[in-house]
Amino acid sequence: MENENIVYDDRMGGTISKKQIDTILNNHYMHADVQKGPFLVEGKGAEITDINGKTMIDCQAQAWALNAGHGNMEILDAAYTQGKMLAHCRPIHDTFPRTRLIEKLVEIAPGDLKKVGLSLSGSSASESALKLAMVNRPDAMNFITLYNAWHGNSLATIAASFSPTQSKHHNFGFGLKFKPFLNSFLRVPNPYCYRCPFGESYPNCKLTCAKVLELTIEKGASGPVAAVYLEPLQGVAGQIPCPPEYLKEVRRICDKYDVLLMFDEVQTGFGRMGTMFAADYYGVYPDVISMAKGMGNGWPVGGILASTKLKSFDSDGEDAYTCMNNAMIHAAVYTSIKYIQENDLCGNARVMGDYMSQRLKSLQGKYPQIGDVRGPGLHIGVEFVTDPETKEPGDEITMSVYRKAIEKGVFFGLAGAIGNVLKIKPPLNITKDQADLILNVFEDCVRESVK
Ligand code: PMP
Repeated sequence: MENENIVYDDRMGGTISKKQIDTILNNHYMHADVQKGPFLVEGKGAEITDINGKTMIDCQAQAWALNAGHGNMEILDAAYTQGKMLAHCRPIHDTFPRTRLIEKLVEIAPGDLKKVGLSLSGSSASESALKLAMVNRPDAMNFITLYNAWHGNSLATIAASFSPTQSKHHNFGFGLKFKPFLNSFLRVPNPYCYRCPFGESYPNCKLTCAKVLELTIEKGASGPVAAVYLEPLQGVAGQIPCPPEYLKEVRRICDKYDVLLMFDEVQTGFGRMGTMFAADYYGVYPDVISMAKGMGNGWPVGGILASTKLKSFDSDGEDAYTCMNNAMIHAAVYTSIKYIQENDLCGNARVMGDYMSQRLKSLQGKYPQIGDVRGPGLHIGVEFVTDPETKEPGDEITMSVYRKAIEKGVFFGLAGAIGNVLKIKPPLNITKDQADLILNVFEDCVRESVK
């Protein structure tokens, strides 16, 4: 047990004891996230260091946000330089950083998604997308989302996500508390090929999941559907990539019924899949993309890219927030994107991602509990099972690997909906040596966990 009288330098000009820290956090902080991680003090590149000086490779990239790595001085310098000049302003003002950021987003935007909306988080980006769909389909009250989706934690986006649905223990998730907001969202099966609920096998299947989506638009919804909103690769659900044919088919269905197709690229955007956006990876272009996380390398930002064919928001405050025009944030976000481009982080995500996925797959023969390895790029998920035939979820193995790896210096992530998927999503500038260290620790932890 740690000595509660141990005193730390708080790096802000003071000192603080372990006892003080525990009192403050245990008595006064409403921890509202999932399991607690280590108490962090420093981060550099792909590494984090905790309060006891222990260094770990960060395979969570802090909720998959730090695509350009911890302590990125180019990004921090850009924010600091801008902040000294003009830090915060109301959204009514134009500024140089916002203008340059919009120009940059238009440069990288897939297809005709050349209209930009800015906000503050992934949840607010999802809300902007949903609002824009309602602006463009004023008579349509329904949205379609996928089983086990995660689109945010605001009231409307909880309703869009899996948290009010049945969890793995057959209870409803926390979202049910916010019942009054749960109207309007119809969930359809996600294309979870490893556990296809229709017993089919991609690519020789009939894409029954897409057929159900079509039938829901045609017959299952009370009234017209405004949009289908989906993650091209579901993150929280357990690292589940949509098969390419599925997305093409959903695009066709949306066009047929005049329903908007919107991609939630909060996790997939800005290089994680080895391309700037999932839309580029799949060659399927939605009408709206929502984005956040890797967009700003940890700065609080979100936004949407919308087709030029769509009506924009009205300039009467339809999607305005006080801090959405923080010039420091915009300078940092602009520099993050430039950094991803100039350092070819998409390329590194492809090369390192392929390398790691291949080695992980090669371990499946030795450890049949590694049921599935999914990518692409550095959007890696490893699904554990107790038996590859029955595919019984290996929650305990997953948790054991996660815990043991922290001791050995690797901080993996866990996927929410089923709890048996380990996420390997480090910053995109990870080196080959760091990738090898992750893989070695992974194998050691699996060996020790499957005994
Ligand atoms: N969409 C997706 C796909 C996400 O993974 C998340 C966050 N996990 C969000 C939206 C919400 O983002 P934020 O937490 O920044 O509100």
